Amino acid sequence: MTKKIFSGVQPTGNLHLGNYLGAIKNFVELNNDKENDCIFCVVDLHAITVKQDKYQLKSNIRETAATFIASGIDPSKSIIFNQSEVPAHAEGSWILSCMAPMGWLNRMTQFKEKAGKDKEKASVGLYIYPVLMASDILLYDATHVPVGEDQKQHLELTRDIAHKFNKDFKCDDFLKVPEPLIKENFSRIMSLKDGLKKMSKSDPSDLSRINLTDSKDEIVNKVKKAKTDSFPIPNDEEKLKSRPEAENLLGIFSSISNQTLGKTLDEFGGKNFSDLKVQLAEILSSKISPISEEIKKLTNDQQYLDNILLEGANKANEIARKKILEIKKIIGF
Ligand code: AMP
Repeated sequence: MTKKIFSGVQPTGNLHLGNYLGAIKNFVELNNDKENDCIFCVVDLHAITVKQDKYQLKSNIRETAATFIASGIDPSKSIIFNQSEVPAHAEGSWILSCMAPMGWLNRMTQFKEKAGKDKEKASVGLYIYPVLMASDILLYDATHVPVGEDQKQHLELTRDIAHKFNKDFKCDDFLKVPEPLIKENFSRIMSLKDGLKKMSKSDPSDLSRINLTDSKDEIVNKVKKAKTDSFPIPNDEEKLKSRPEAENLLGIFSSISNQTLGKTLDEFGGKNFSDLKVQLAEILSSKISPISEEIKKLTNDQQYLDNILLEGANKANEIARKKILEIKKIIGF
């Protein structure tokens, strides 16, 4: 059966190793499988749920598209577009927000984290962010959605909204209920400075993350400065449980080398972190630097990127427009 893949990444700058290992690397694998129809969206409407600089936003949209392509997504095989170019996303989001009970949205932990202490000042957009995400996915009848672990709750909400719509309007199976594709291991990459905090675009310390635009020297330096503990590397996984920084570095090594944590522990068990760090820096540079070089090359060719996004938006519009017309008919417009 053909899988219909949909996923999105916000153009909020500083795309990092967490985005790559948690999401984009999987996008590339899915793109490479001939059986799949893939759509990868630069979710600029999601980005403006928090304040953005208008010039920076434009360049971040292009840089995100460039990162998709530089990582190995083939724009002649997969659709790459930006969300604001396809009006059905916002339209669908409004309609679905009238179906989703506030109680469901009140449970979303990402809103609580992002809104912080002063909830009153957070935008309404940030609150209904997960409904826009549901609209993105449901407009394309996506069967599978590859994301990092932090998006699991949003996908569950998407599934609940689809079920509710189908039930309320007695249109069984009209909105397709998507399956999350979340890697069992290494789907949450942590900060290099604090093993209990997610690696994030917005961490004020650049040393906390490896950006996909970092040079070889920057990667080596950041790995060297990554936080560790003062014990040797253990031989078995159980012993990593209360050692978040050790677990994270070993997890990153395993994920980027496409091997199990067990195999990595076989290699490094009993050794010091300095040994792991040398090899980690080496493999990260060899995998990330070519992507970073390619991002630089592509972002210098704005016309090329704009053409890819335009072509992608035309194809996405064709699919989404049909679905939104059906949705409107079903609800009585
Ligand atoms: P965002 O940058 O928030 O739009 O996230 C884009 C994708 O990267 C989503 O699928 C996230 O789940 C994933 N992602 C973001 N940060 C991490 C992280 N630290 N570890 C693993 N996946 C992540």
